[in-house]
Amino acid sequence: GPNSRRLLERQREVDSSAVAYPEDIPVAFEEGKGATVRDVDGNTYIDMFAGIGVLNVGHANPYVLDAVHKQADKLVHTVDFPTEARIELIEKLDEIAPGDLSGNNRVVFGGPTGSDAIEASIKLAKYNTEGSGLVAFRGAYHGATSGAMSITGNKKFKGNYTPLLSDVVHAPYPNPVEMGKSPEAAVEHALEEVQAIFEDPYGGLANPAGIFVEPIQGEGGVVVPPKGFLQGLRDVADDHGVPLVFDEIQSGLGRSGQWWASEWEGVTPDVMTSAKALGGTGFPLSATIYHEDLDTWDAGDHAGTYRGHVVAMRAGTRTIEYIQEHDLLAHARDLGEYIRGRLREAGEGNPHVADVRGRGLFVGCEFVDAEGNPADDVADAVQDYCFEHGVLVWKAGRHGNVLRLLPPLVLTEELAETALDVIVDAIEAATT
Ligand code: PMP
Repeated sequence: GPNSRRLLERQREVDSSAVAYPEDIPVAFEEGKGATVRDVDGNTYIDMFAGIGVLNVGHANPYVLDAVHKQADKLVHTVDFPTEARIELIEKLDEIAPGDLSGNNRVVFGGPTGSDAIEASIKLAKYNTEGSGLVAFRGAYHGATSGAMSITGNKKFKGNYTPLLSDVVHAPYPNPVEMGKSPEAAVEHALEEVQAIFEDPYGGLANPAGIFVEPIQGEGGVVVPPKGFLQGLRDVADDHGVPLVFDEIQSGLGRSGQWWASEWEGVTPDVMTSAKALGGTGFPLSATIYHEDLDTWDAGDHAGTYRGHVVAMRAGTRTIEYIQEHDLLAHARDLGEYIRGRLREAGEGNPHVADVRGRGLFVGCEFVDAEGNPADDVADAVQDYCFEHGVLVWKAGRHGNVLRLLPPLVLTEELAETALDVIVDAIEAATT
């Protein structure tokens, strides 16, 4: 609409050229509620994107905002001076931590972004092992700071910033569709490569410090690794005495229908990163959660001004409580099944829909052309159609050919149905 266009033009004049605006359909938002958001021209959208999977309890969640308002009136920030808010959130994270991390965890809040949590996890792994080598995966996304870019498995995000951390090796992430292998063969291949990084004297890392992996790849295309992969990594990490680090920044806090995506496989990491949804309805907060055995840092060994953001911490605790009280994990599992079911139905007999996957409300739909090659133009057309018809969706994947859905966990069945009607029509329009 005209107001959106005006805002976009004004902002472009002053904003960094690094900002990636939605070029085809300029839209600017002014108000969100639950799983819907309204633009400055008065159009309402169903938000199946949630600010890259941040708004798990919805826009303007009143239970979270109530605590935010009260806290903001009292105290916003104290760095490391003790607060009830910080202790409460650490205890809450301990309660929902997976496996034996629960009851034994330590948390470091290093800063507001996911990248901050990744940097802390890299430092923690190096500090504890006195190693330098990092094992990471192709297709991974871990953030925009130098350490996080180093373990990111996508050259697009590394630009000309090299040299980054040099002691990094990327192994294949088991995506059966991309590899053209069975799920079992994909896992076997990926694990062999990881093992070789540790064991093959003709290559790999001389002095490994840790394995860094998303338990479900987000930016890489909503890739759910087949069964056995995470356990295989757990075994390699144990055999070689390095920490296994799960990046749950996109997959965690209920997104997958469990608190943590790792719980689908019952595999517990030594270190876990969280951000995005952690700060409630969009407050910046990230955390590195790790087993107390790794708590060897001396005071001051890792610093950060924003590790005492009291308002964001209150929002975080309230968010976890809200998910618990409304049983949103079960809701995410059920609604995710419904969404994938609708997409699979749409894909039946449609050769352009190569794969529908995900867990909970972390959903991907991969498009190919008539020859079976990645079709980013289909994903683009689906996204444009959805925007034009009031549904916000995003993309992901090596080739930008995966439709990615990350709706708030509070999405209702009615809204999900309406959104899927539009998405199914979009797929039809884009592929016929
Ligand atoms: N890790 C993962 C898995 C992510 O999806 C992202 C953000 N998309 C990050 C790390 C980086 O988080 P941030 O953008 O907050 O630095």
